[in-house]
Amino acid sequence: MAKVYDVIIIGAGPAGLAAGLYSGRAKMDTLIIEKEKDGGQIVITAEIENYPGSLAEESGPSLIERMSAQAAKFGCERVYDTVVDLELEGPIKTIKGKKGEYQAKAVILAPGASPQHIGCPGEAEFTGKGVSYCATCDAAFYEDFEVFVVGGGDSAVEEALYLTKFARKVTMIVRRDVFRAAKSIQDKAFANPKLDIWWNTSIVNIEGDGLVNKMTLIDNKTKETREYYADEEDGIFGIFVFIGFVPATKFLEGKVAMDERGYIIADENMHTNIPGVFAAGDCRVKSLRQVVTAAADGAIAAVQAGNYVDDLA
Ligand code: NAP
Repeated sequence: MAKVYDVIIIGAGPAGLAAGLYSGRAKMDTLIIEKEKDGGQIVITAEIENYPGSLAEESGPSLIERMSAQAAKFGCERVYDTVVDLELEGPIKTIKGKKGEYQAKAVILAPGASPQHIGCPGEAEFTGKGVSYCATCDAAFYEDFEVFVVGGGDSAVEEALYLTKFARKVTMIVRRDVFRAAKSIQDKAFANPKLDIWWNTSIVNIEGDGLVNKMTLIDNKTKETREYYADEEDGIFGIFVFIGFVPATKFLEGKVAMDERGYIIADENMHTNIPGVFAAGDCRVKSLRQVVTAAADGAIAAVQAGNYVDDLA
């Protein structure tokens, strides 16, 4: 029979890694299962300026590297596998991955969230061919080209500012006539001469010839549509989409209580409706999804999971 861990953590973003650190440090036998690479959304974040203590310029990848190393320092085991099924009821929980099966007395769910898509024709077809959800990953491809950034929240404005370091021109496409972003971030956008803003505008179609070179836009007030073509010399342009996130909880449907949008319902101590199953980070219903709140959730979930395991003995 497979080894039974004290705690299995699903997801190695800030919530999962903080849970791993606390669980490992409490001498719980701990396994973290991650499907791709550590970090979740923060690996696609160019600069983190609001994680307490981060005064120097810090990128998402550098912060996550230190978080991973810290979890490893306290003995967390790691496996890279995609979870396809779970049996969460009862004293021993079973996690089925594509590569193997894992068992634990307690489980912390920290799968995070993934970028929301516009949902217009052409978006999926041209993902990676002009449509991107990651400025850190793809900005360099657009050195001296024109790029568009969809969205008006903190992510869109911050990533648009980052893209101005690469692109010849950055235009934000905002569906209303106001930003949702924090005022301090908005002010940086208004002050940047390389950044233009098209208000009340949405993209309704994306086309190209291998790479994106045309899009159709709608004025959300007048309902008029217009086509936009790439500059003749460039032949292409980029579209970066930052319009929020959806929880990565599809694999948990029917296994744990969620709200209508798929966020896991957990109490302030991260307990879900299933004994011994905890949720942490962006995957759960909460009011503020930030690295600092994800890390805090992870710490609480790990302590609670430890208490639960001790009580089983
Ligand atoms: P967000 O705050 O939910 O903003 C989403 C933006 O996208 C809004 O402007 C929204 O417009 C727009 N939008 C949504 N669906 C759209 C669609 N289908 N088509 C076009 N536009 C659409 O998302 P976020 O910016 O990714 O931020 C997520 C969370 O992370 C927030 O809590 C944010 O504060 C936080 N965050 C913080 C920082 C920081 O503090 N440095 C950095 C990044 C993110 P409407 O306004 O019209 O709804």
